[in-house]
Amino acid sequence: MRRKLVVGNWKMHGSLATNAELLAGIRAAEPFVCEAAVCVPFPYLSTCLLALQGSHIGLGAQDCSAHEQGAYTGEVSAAMLADVGCRYVIVGHSERRAYHGESDQLVADKAKMVIGKGLVPIVCVGETLAEREAGQTEAVVKRQLSAVIHTLGQCIPQAVVAYEPVWAIGTGKTATPEQAQEVHAVLRKQLAAATEHAGAMRILYGGSVKPDNAAALFAQPDIDGGLIGGASLKAADFVAICRAA
Ligand code: PGA
Repeated sequence: MRRKLVVGNWKMHGSLATNAELLAGIRAAEPFVCEAAVCVPFPYLSTCLLALQGSHIGLGAQDCSAHEQGAYTGEVSAAMLADVGCRYVIVGHSERRAYHGESDQLVADKAKMVIGKGLVPIVCVGETLAEREAGQTEAVVKRQLSAVIHTLGQCIPQAVVAYEPVWAIGTGKTATPEQAQEVHAVLRKQLAAATEHAGAMRILYGGSVKPDNAAALFAQPDIDGGLIGGASLKAADFVAICRAA
């Protein structure tokens, strides 16, 4: 059976003081049946790791470079993230694709680099509202995942996939459990064509997951947890979502 995974994506929020308070609040509610992790801004990785000592909550970053090392000012390598104690790295979040022009191939290259350093990439895919309304949802997510499958080859089972419809992110508009499940099933089938381990891979749903809709989403057969933005910034909400998984 797949163990559910709930990951907080803090995005560009927080401070030393608020992070400490948030993590203390989450830790106070451990243990969880699901696996839990927080993906925090780069400058806070080390202090968050210290704050999580003795906890089962995993640490992750929100992006990394596709390059190994070198003259890439402002970039952070996967090796550095491994060095400071990360377990996960989100790659291809729709905000990176939209605001930083990340292509399907760049996202796939980042995922490969992450796996090469012994970390787990959380690869995000998802359609925009215009794409959904044009009936292109399936084609878009398949195209995005296909680049990752081809680039990772036999390593694909080491990735976590996150389906995040762009129209549901930060908007309060969640995909219904049925809408989400439909896409998750498409992704699982695509993975199954590439690897015999598809049944063991985790596919997360993200996009306005809240304490009151988490259980219904997580009850779907192909939804293996969530990538949580806004609701991961309040300990009580994040804990409630972890408990729903
Ligand atoms: P949200 O963000 O939960 O605030 O919609 C999810 C995400 O962007 O990962």
